[in-house]
Amino acid sequence: MSVLNIARLGHPILREIAKPVNLKALTASGDDELQQLIDDMIDTMREEDGVGIAAPQVARSLQIIIVEYQQNERYPSQDDIPLTVYVNPKIIHSGKETASFWEGCLSLKDLRGLVTRPQEVTVEAFSREGKKMVVEAKGFLSVVLQHEIDHLLGKVFLDRMTDLTQLAWAEEWQTYWTEKESAQSPEAI
Ligand code: ZN
Repeated sequence: MSVLNIARLGHPILREIAKPVNLKALTASGDDELQQLIDDMIDTMREEDGVGIAAPQVARSLQIIIVEYQQNERYPSQDDIPLTVYVNPKIIHSGKETASFWEGCLSLKDLRGLVTRPQEVTVEAFSREGKKMVVEAKGFLSVVLQHEIDHLLGKVFLDRMTDLTQLAWAEEWQTYWTEKESAQSPEAI
């Protein structure tokens, strides 16, 4: 297991278009460099308490994202997201309806911002075994996938915000923006 360093905003790789993964290299026996990277990304995401991670966030220009969310007492209202690796993911369809969600990002540390995105997306990608998959996502999974795929396009959630008054540090958000004691803190995607 290796936990990798997180590239934070200002690292040029976060502004680059990530390179597509060579699927033959992904599944070649005896060449497990990409599989090792995927395992390290999983370790890093879990260590950092992220809900998702994209390869540029560990300073690798490759089109790989990973998502996982296990329901816990702190955030009881979101659905679980099983651990899934998406290689060369592409959004092939976006729904017309939009929804706003407070997002965080491992590369932006404790900042949280309200981002409006399509409620539903369809994502085409390959599994870590090189198998093609099509995922229709809505709700929380849709937000997480769009956020992570943005990292492959050199974008961070700040670029998707339309109103920068809706940006806060997590601690201040907790203090000033929650009306109920039970209100959830936004997640670091
Ligand atoms: Zn992020």
